[in-house]
Amino acid sequence: MGEYGKEVYGQPRRDGHAMQSFVPTSAAITVANSAAWSDLLALLRGRRIVALTGAGCSTESGIPDYRGAGTVRRARNPIQFREYLGSDAMRQRYWARSFTGWTRVAHAEPNGAHRALAELERAGVVGGIITQNVDRLHHAAGSRRVIELHGALEEVVCLRCGAMESRRELQARLRSLNPQWREEVAVEHAPDGDAELDAPMIADFRIAHCRVCHGDLKPNVVFFGENVAKPTVDKAWALFDEAEVLLVAGSSLAVFSGFRFVRRAAERGIPIAIVNIGPTRGDNLASIRVEGRLGTLLPALSSALL
Ligand SMILES: [Zn+2]
Repeated sequence: MGEYGKEVYGQPRRDGHAMQSFVPTSAAITVANSAAWSDLLALLRGRRIVALTGAGCSTESGIPDYRGAGTVRRARNPIQFREYLGSDAMRQRYWARSFTGWTRVAHAEPNGAHRALAELERAGVVGGIITQNVDRLHHAAGSRRVIELHGALEEVVCLRCGAMESRRELQARLRSLNPQWREEVAVEHAPDGDAELDAPMIADFRIAHCRVCHGDLKPNVVFFGENVAKPTVDKAWALFDEAEVLLVAGSSLAVFSGFRFVRRAAERGIPIAIVNIGPTRGDNLASIRVEGRLGTLLPALSSALL
């Protein structure tokens, strides 16, 4: 979703500071004894935190991260925005796959990472969350100030008149249009609620249109090749401006829409802490990097800071 950047991982640090990281462990107690962990706490303590979150926050909720480590590669590329706008067949393919993948997203529940961030926000330690996720799990965990950079799958918008419909309502309409269709046939799931399906099946799928004007519908999410809406970006910058430290949680920062916050933090001298599994595009800009499962690390962080 959003724009792909051109830069690659693994650039050397240019500021001469040593970057610390350690091997992931499932035991929070080991994490809590590590030097990187102490440095992370020292960096975050007493500073207003703004969190930038990505797919890695939701993997432990059963929503796979197709960019991160240890995940299933998608057989085909995600649909591009221009293709979606220009082709009935593409929209049919999207909705057939989305119809099938939706159940998994709809039933996902927040994990310890989401709950820890919500807890830190309630305590006034975290000012808010800028997220690349479209699953609404931060809201489900109780976070209140969440800027959804890439929108939310929970909403559907009419491309002609702008009318909104909830995805749950649309799912019911799609179900009645396709009574023969089973929602459990997907062989592979992706974090945007997409799923892999056979072409002959897709040809039989009947798509739904806007209830108001019969226009074409689109999930209210930012597709690949589509820009993040300016009001959303403005809100994200307003939140970012409150940050005394930027905490990146569960994002490889491969997408520019998220990476730009890290870049600006670096430009302004705002410290950056990264908690993630696997390398990120912001590693050479980070003051501290801790490697590990967010469902373990963020609750430990919350306990230590509160
Ligand atoms: Zn409409």
